[in-house]
Amino acid sequence: MSAAASARQILTQLHEVMASRMYAQGKLDRVVEIVGENLDSEVCSIYLLREGMLELFATRGLNQAAVHVTRMALGEGLTGTIAEKSETLNLAEAKAHPDFQYRPETGEEKYHSFAGVPIIYRERAVGVLCVQHVEPRRYEEVEIEALQTTAMVLSELITNNDMVDEEDAAGLNPAQSGPLTINGLSLAKGLASGFAVFHQPRVTINQVVADDTEAERQRVYRAFDKMREGIDTMTSQAEFRVGGEHEEVLETYKMFAYDEGWSRRINEAIDSGLTAEAAIERVQQRTRMRMREIDDPLLADRMHDLEDLSNRLLRIVSGQLGTAATQGLRRDTILIAKNLGPAELLEYDRRKLKGVVLEEGSLTSHVVIVARAMGVPVLGRARGLRAIVRDGDQILVDADAATAMIRPGQQVLDAFEARFAKSRERQALYAELRDVEPFTRCGTRIKVMMNAGLRDDISNLNLVGADGIGLFRTEFQFLVSATLPQREKQFRLYRDVLDGAGDKPVIFRTVDIGGDKAVPYLRSGEAENDENPAMGWRALRLALEREGLLKVQARALIEAAAGKVLHVMFPMVSAPWEFDAAKAVFEAQLKYLKAQKKTLPETIKYGAMLEVPALAEVLDLLIPKLSFLSVGTNDLTQFLFAADRANPKLAERYDWLSPAILRFMRRIALATEGQDVELGICGEMGGRRLEALALLGLGFRRLSITPVSVGPIKELVRKVDLKEIGEAMTGWLSQPPEDMRSTLKDWAEAHGIDVE
Ligand code: PEP
Ligand code: MG
Repeated sequence: MSAAASARQILTQLHEVMASRMYAQGKLDRVVEIVGENLDSEVCSIYLLREGMLELFATRGLNQAAVHVTRMALGEGLTGTIAEKSETLNLAEAKAHPDFQYRPETGEEKYHSFAGVPIIYRERAVGVLCVQHVEPRRYEEVEIEALQTTAMVLSELITNNDMVDEEDAAGLNPAQSGPLTINGLSLAKGLASGFAVFHQPRVTINQVVADDTEAERQRVYRAFDKMREGIDTMTSQAEFRVGGEHEEVLETYKMFAYDEGWSRRINEAIDSGLTAEAAIERVQQRTRMRMREIDDPLLADRMHDLEDLSNRLLRIVSGQLGTAATQGLRRDTILIAKNLGPAELLEYDRRKLKGVVLEEGSLTSHVVIVARAMGVPVLGRARGLRAIVRDGDQILVDADAATAMIRPGQQVLDAFEARFAKSRERQALYAELRDVEPFTRCGTRIKVMMNAGLRDDISNLNLVGADGIGLFRTEFQFLVSATLPQREKQFRLYRDVLDGAGDKPVIFRTVDIGGDKAVPYLRSGEAENDENPAMGWRALRLALEREGLLKVQARALIEAAAGKVLHVMFPMVSAPWEFDAAKAVFEAQLKYLKAQKKTLPETIKYGAMLEVPALAEVLDLLIPKLSFLSVGTNDLTQFLFAADRANPKLAERYDWLSPAILRFMRRIALATEGQDVELGICGEMGGRRLEALALLGLGFRRLSITPVSVGPIKELVRKVDLKEIGEAMTGWLSQPPEDMRSTLKDWAEAHGIDVE
């Protein structure tokens, strides 16, 4: 019989067993018989994980009395080793293996050869399937493959019958998987503990044995076509054609995608009777096993590409294209991804999402800003993350120390809990400041406002004791909608926000979409051709040209603020006429609503964001038109340094505390001095203690920051003497020290100001 034919024979028999109405135990008993008969082996046994131990669940050949009696720990004996390392063993002489352990109750002393494979469930070994022979022999590859295929069927059986506890599945350490710490870049501070969930989840295989082999083959063909098409499109996109790392990665991808050997092996697996999904997984398991034997870091990288691709193919073939958000989070979660868009993050349940770890990411990318708004710590730049972490791993994120502990041991857990407690203590301290007005040591009242963008954020306003909302990012509503939010919907959100804020001011920023805040429904036409979206058709530029957009928003805002003060702020103003044009849209709506005899806002205060450096040159022309000016340091610094704020490679390159930025900020502060305009800052820079100290020294008196920073910044403000820091800043700006950051830090320490 050919290898494929014998494999198919086993599968057909297994299929019948699976489809039968037997109890799970009965099915296991049949499976060991089928495998034993087909492989002509005296012994076939199944061990499954129960309460952290591997327990003999079914056997042909060993003493039946040992069933549910023989138990071993992970790493104990050959079976324990297979489960712990998730690896296959193929031994002509079992006793010669260093991990061999003899169990007298099983009566296995007469058997010499041994082969075993792990039973994998959700990427973890939850059991072992093994065969033994009296005669010493090594098993052939087809036999090992038959065992692996049977193990896949068993994993289906285990899934469908809930035969392994969640805790058991999660608690078992998979291959080479002791506790690990990865270092990264702290993107949103805080501590978090939870279980790993991949943003792009691995596909669960529900059916291993095919009903119709030809149909499965067609499914795989179609999936290959679709996957290759997608990769071709990606490689032909302008942004990837410029060479460098991207191109290399994509070329490798392409090479794998078109690899004849890969598709042939999948086809062979289908020939043996597997479904398309099982065939892809089966081939991937085999590749993984081979790769593990070759200890080469370069190959490991390539392996990762192939895993990615294989997973992509699986998703296409199974139609499981959604992210983990669509499936819903079941418990405290640490989200794992290469990178994410802000809209994708917003889809997650805020109650369950405790932390995020990314392979990429940068401080001012919008996904990070959204995470901060959600109060979720983010660790970025965690290299090799997805290769190390498995779905369901316990993870402790310490974004303060820029690390994440994967599969922590008890000691680490205890230490983390102690830090958690300390951090809660600190939070309690900040909470005490909630109703305390932030006056500096010298008696100046500093306005500490918060940034927001979601309806739920409003509750934070009183919780953290901010002076108001200095930046309400109205585009968040646009990001979470599948279509352009209707006026009525916008109106309701703005009204709720104003109601929730009570007497405290809310500065609504008109939509800032485009750049890294792409919305699919607006991507038609011009924006699609933006090669440089951050400097392209975005924010006010887009809003002014799609007048329908700004008009609708103006109307919704004006109506929502009936009888109240409305603060409107325009983003990305690059020249004074843009401010005039945007204001004119609001004034026209105001006029229209007045004619309609609607209740109007008590007054409308207009402001602009300074994010484009050119605006600093014409502040004398712009300021007389404004009630307030808010510096958006996120965009401003990306334009000042010509450094994409979302590019992870530039994430650590330029410092907010560099003379270039500080001098620029000083210049803005001087331009507004003595003018009837309120100056503030609403970029992420203001929420960091050391940076905030510098800004106070430069003359900024209003900071709008992420809610979790309100407490720490209020506390800082109370320790500052503006004259002292002002003079120090003047000195440093005229003669910048080599390292402004550490100079400022030393100064703060010497003045009793804690800046960490
Ligand atoms: C900024 O650019 O600093 C800012 C506050 O706006 P956003 O981060 O939303 O672009
Ligand atoms: Mg901006």
